[in-house]
Amino acid sequence: MKPFDFIKVTNIKTALSHKNEHVQYIAGGTNLVDLMKKNVHLPDTVVDINDALIGLIDMHNKNMHIGAMVSNTEIATDTKVLKDFPLLAKAVLAGASPQIRNMASTGGNILQRTRCPYFYDTTTDCNKREPGTGCSAYAGENRMSALIGYSKDCVAVHPSDLCVAFVALDAEVHIITKNHKEAVIPFQDFHRLPGNNPHLDNNLPEHALISFIKIPENPFAKHCAYLKIRDRASYAFALVSVAAALHLDGNRIIEARLASGGIAHKPWRWLEAEGFLKGKNATEAVFSQAAAMIVADMQPLAHNGFKVGMLKGAVESALTQCLLA
Ligand SMILES: Cc1cc2nc3c(=O)[nH]c(=O)nc-3n(C[C@H](O)[C@H](O)[C@H](O)COP(=O)(O)OP(=O)(O)OC[C@H]3O[C@@H](n4cnc5c(N)ncnc54)[C@H](O)[C@@H]3O)c2cc1C
Ligand code: SF4
Repeated sequence: MKPFDFIKVTNIKTALSHKNEHVQYIAGGTNLVDLMKKNVHLPDTVVDINDALIGLIDMHNKNMHIGAMVSNTEIATDTKVLKDFPLLAKAVLAGASPQIRNMASTGGNILQRTRCPYFYDTTTDCNKREPGTGCSAYAGENRMSALIGYSKDCVAVHPSDLCVAFVALDAEVHIITKNHKEAVIPFQDFHRLPGNNPHLDNNLPEHALISFIKIPENPFAKHCAYLKIRDRASYAFALVSVAAALHLDGNRIIEARLASGGIAHKPWRWLEAEGFLKGKNATEAVFSQAAAMIVADMQPLAHNGFKVGMLKGAVESALTQCLLA
């Protein structure tokens, strides 16, 4: 690990004042410290932002605001989340371990980097870590890699569970730029596809801070599910995951939300399938048709074809679980 300066700040102004150095913010440190130990990230200065940003969950006109410093455990146990936005808690509890969830912040969860093994191994080629070197996973071990939206330059997936629930619920990322301006990025536009620039994971401007996440009021609390399929029952990232939510009038679907993790460089929203479900009766056959629609466009790599059938089954099961919720 390269030596670095460590600065603890208590306000945003001071945090942003370090913008001209090779600086890295640290929140819970559960991803950044690993990356520094493995020499993937080599900051000169690490700025601890824990005391500078919001650490509260509160309501504004029935919309929920989750501060960037709210821990994953706090999201999973907050009574307002459990009552009105339970999909968030379900997604969080599907991830990591209790110890990691205690440390992991909301902002850090959104900005965590891919778990592609080549990205963490500095002896291998990786365009995300070192642009222009090539993608070892494309023709190499790609069992965990993307099914959709990838390029030859990068086939990595975004590892977060919480982000899948955020994108399903039309969340917004509220940020503060290095020039102290407030801005909003719709969650669906926050993460990027790799294209020719896989070193860029997201559209957060350089040195900007995530301040809080807004989740609009929604009618999905009663019928929602998060289904994650992974190699181990705990402490493992998704092979595929599905966030599903239904607004029902009797058995009729008024509105549906569907999103997935573990299959693309960004949390993936299934808008076409949502449109198909709208107005239909919630039956096994309809869920199966929606799932078939979702997997129709998959482009599996050499070692991850098994994820296509797994995704189809996960969509069907998650929608069925919504009815049991
Ligand atoms: C063994 C293990 C298993 C895990 N399993 C899962 C899993 O199953 N599902 C899952 O979703 N996650 C999983 N995680 C990932 C974990 O959830 C993330 O590491 C964590 O959420 C990151 O949050 P943090 O506060 O520790 O971020 P940090 O490590 O402190 O920071 C991560 C990045 O975010 C930046 N950053 C943090 N906060 C801000 C902010 N407010 N503004 C701007 N930049 C910011 C930092 O500069 C850094 O680049 C796992 C992690 C480990 C180690
Ligand atoms: S998939 Fe992306 S992160 Fe993995 S080796 Fe290729 S470029 Fe690197």
